[in-house]
Amino acid sequence: MRTERAAVTVLGLGSMGSALAAALLAKGHPTTVWNRSAHKAEALAERGAAVAATPAEAVAAGPLVLACVLDHPALHTVLDPVAGSLAGKTLVNLTSGSPEQAVEAAAWARSHGAGYLDGAIMTTPPGVGSPEVMFLYSGAREAFDTHRATLTALGDPLHLGTDPGLASLYDAGLLGLMWATLTGWLHGTALVGTEGTPATAFTPVAIRWLHTVHTFLATYAPQVDAGHYPGDDATVDVQIAAIDHLLHAAAARGIDNALPELLKATMERARDAGHGAGSYASVIEVLKGAVGAADSAGATSTAAGAR
Ligand code: NAP
Repeated sequence: MRTERAAVTVLGLGSMGSALAAALLAKGHPTTVWNRSAHKAEALAERGAAVAATPAEAVAAGPLVLACVLDHPALHTVLDPVAGSLAGKTLVNLTSGSPEQAVEAAAWARSHGAGYLDGAIMTTPPGVGSPEVMFLYSGAREAFDTHRATLTALGDPLHLGTDPGLASLYDAGLLGLMWATLTGWLHGTALVGTEGTPATAFTPVAIRWLHTVHTFLATYAPQVDAGHYPGDDATVDVQIAAIDHLLHAAAARGIDNALPELLKATMERARDAGHGAGSYASVIEVLKGAVGAADSAGATSTAAGAR
C-alpha cells in the first residue's frame, strides 16, 4: 500500500484557503501555498507548508492545484498570468461562483490543457477536514477519480456530474435551504423568547422537529418527480389554516411576520391553482412558475387526480 501522500498546491489563503491547506498538511500531503498577502502563509509554513513566492512557483510545485479566492474575477487575476503552465495539471476551483462562471472556468482551463473540477464547500472553515462534511464537485469524472483520495483529506467528496456548473447549482439550492431553515428557526426562537424561553431551551426541541421534517422531504421527493401530490398526510388547505395560528401568535407578540406571510401567500397561490387538496409538495408548481392562469386547468387535474 502506498503511504506517501500526493503533493497539492493551494492558491488563496483567506479563512477558507488556510483551512484547506491546514487539512491537507494534517493528513500528510506535501502542500505548497501562495497568497496575495504573503503574511497569511506564515502560520501554515510553521505547520510544514512550502511557501511559494509567486502563483507560477506554486503551480509548478505539483499536478493538483486548489484555488480558493474571493470570486471568479480574483481567480482570473491570479491564474491568467500562469495559464501557460497549467497544461497537464488539474485545477480544482473551490471559489464560489455561479454555474455559468463554472462552465466558463472549465472551458478556460480546457483551452489551456488543464483538467477542471468545480467545487462547493458545504461547511465553514472549522468544519474542513471532517469526514462528515460534504465537498460537492462537478466536471471531468477522470479528474475526480484521479484525485479523489487527496480530496478526501478535505471532507467527503461527492461527484455530481460532468457538467461543471452542477456543484454551484447545488450549492445555491442548498444555501437557500439553509437560509430558509435558519430564518424559520430564528422566527420560532423569537416567538417563544417573548414568553421567556431562551434559545438554548427551544433549540433541542427544534432539532428534534427537524428530524421529523426531514422525513417529509423523503416522502415528497418522489411526488415532485411524479408531478403527483396526494394530500393523504396534510393538505395545502390544512397548512393554510395552520399558518394563521403562527401569524396570529407572532403578531400578538410583536414579532416580524414577513417570512410566514410569504409562506402563506405561496401556499395560497398553490391552492388557487387547484392544489388545495394536494400535499405541501405541490407548492413546487408555484415555485417552478408552472402555475399560471392559463395552466391552472392542468394543475387542477393533477391535484384532482391526487384525491
Ligand atoms: P476571505 O477570508 O475573504 O479570503 C479571500 C481570499 O481571496 C484571500 O486569499 C484574498 O487574498 C483573495 N483575494 C481576494 N481578491 C483577490 C484578488 N483580486 N487577487 C488575488 N487574491 C484575491 O474569504 P474566504 O472565507 O476564505 O472565502 C474564499 C472563497 O471560499 C469564497 O469564494 C467563498 O465564497 C468560499 N467559501 C467560503 C466559506 C466560508 O465559510 N468562509 C464557505 C464556503 C465557500 P488576500 O489575503 O491578499 O486579501
